Amino acid sequence: MGGEIDWRGAIPGLAALPDEPMSRRTTFRVGGPARWILQPADAQQAGAALRLCQEAGIAPFFLGNGSNLLVRDEGYDGVMLSTAAMDQMTVLPGEPALYAQSGALLPRLANLAAEAGLSGLEFASGIPGSVGGAARMNAGAYGGEMSQVVERVDYLDEAGRPHALAGADCGFAYRHSVFCQEPWFITGALFRLKPRDPAEIRAEMAELTRRRREKQPLDYPSAGSTFKRPQGHFAAALIESCGLKGLTVGGAQVSEKHSGFLINRGGATCADVLALMERVRDAVWEQTGVRLEPEVEIIP
Ligand SMILES: Cc1cc2nc3c(=O)[nH]c(=O)nc-3n(C[C@H](O)[C@H](O)[C@H](O)COP(=O)(O)OP(=O)(O)OC[C@H]3O[C@@H](n4cnc5c(N)ncnc54)[C@H](O)[C@@H]3O)c2cc1C
Repeated sequence: MGGEIDWRGAIPGLAALPDEPMSRRTTFRVGGPARWILQPADAQQAGAALRLCQEAGIAPFFLGNGSNLLVRDEGYDGVMLSTAAMDQMTVLPGEPALYAQSGALLPRLANLAAEAGLSGLEFASGIPGSVGGAARMNAGAYGGEMSQVVERVDYLDEAGRPHALAGADCGFAYRHSVFCQEPWFITGALFRLKPRDPAEIRAEMAELTRRRREKQPLDYPSAGSTFKRPQGHFAAALIESCGLKGLTVGGAQVSEKHSGFLINRGGATCADVLALMERVRDAVWEQTGVRLEPEVEIIP
């Protein structure tokens, strides 16, 4: 799975980190070490890394801000291609549009849009994901989602060749896009927005932040909503109706503030979180007949 290549110095200028604890790279703060994290500074370096991976028969995992991931305690015995160093953003001159590299974080991007008087990303100001992760997942909140603002996605295929896809061709659906099915590494996205008074944008973002803080356990590490929204239901309401609020396994807990969030209340292992997820799923299935599906991605 790629552990055999010493990636340090394999590609000029490419940062390569061996045995990096994934508890430092995920918002859940759990997970053992990744054998290699490769951190390209731009699409050229990412392309070179993908080519070398392909030659070596390695399928790298693409790492954004780790805000929707649960990495097992044993770690990941392979290569992670991280966008952490690809975080440039820019306002297009004379156009209501922004371009961002895939590692740019949504709260920063939303702030840049607000400063420039561009509306459309207010919903994203409290989502702690990167542009790449959010485009892949079609992240959304409070009636907004990426599909509404993404005009184009730039990506590299498994051989490191550059391509672009119009937003309309990205197959966006609920927490889904074509990037969930293909081994394509997103390098950046173009956002088409609408002019709006910056004060109004800021006021809307402040209101959404207030609502998040009121409802969500933001003081604890988590990956946001642990389960997908089941059709016709809300995961949090089902979990709460089954009396599972506050249920604890080791350091993992069903949040007392928001039952849809499983949190790391201190010292949780991935095994704790997985065992808690299982108990929640079983109880909800037995008591309501609804099957909860994880929204967080379990690695590997
Ligand atoms: C407190 C909290 C609140 C949250 N609120 C919301 C919310 O309101 N709405 C919502 O939708 N989500 C929410 N989330 C979940 C999460 O922030 C989003 O799913 C986000 O889009 C994940 O982005 P990421 O960069 O962290 O991706 P990661 O978790 O790093 O990765 C997620 C997936 O995207 C893939 N990926 C990452 N980068 C790339 C790339 N460059 N190219 C191709 N694939 C890539 C990964 O391989 C993985 O499959 C929340 C999470 C937390 C912790």
